[in-house]
Amino acid sequence: MKALARKKRAAVTSIATRQKCEVDRMICLYCDEPILQGEHFGSVNGGRDRVHDECLIRMTLGSAAHQLGECLCCGGTRGDPPGATRRQAARLAKETFNLLRGETPLKLGSSIE
Ligand SMILES: [Zn+2]
Ligand SMILES: [Zn+2]
Repeated sequence: MKALARKKRAAVTSIATRQKCEVDRMICLYCDEPILQGEHFGSVNGGRDRVHDECLIRMTLGSAAHQLGECLCCGGTRGDPPGATRRQAARLAKETFNLLRGETPLKLGSSIE
């Protein structure tokens, strides 16, 4: 019985250690920048990969231009802003999303950051 208890504790310790390592080197799957402490992020690929909050929005909703219907796939000419990093373009997509959501009578969320 004692041996089993010790075994169980050892298993718990190893899981805790692995989780800490993952947190220490979280890199955003979308923009390749580190996800820093205090930054909002989401999980993708069944929880295996992490992405910044804004990058998740960029991945799921598309670029700012796409949300405005001005991108190539919507018949327009715009894409992500030229010269912007993927992270910067993602931030713009999130801002656009918040802006559009704010102007829509049917609000998706009730909390405002
Ligand atoms: Zn990112
Ligand atoms: Zn589009």
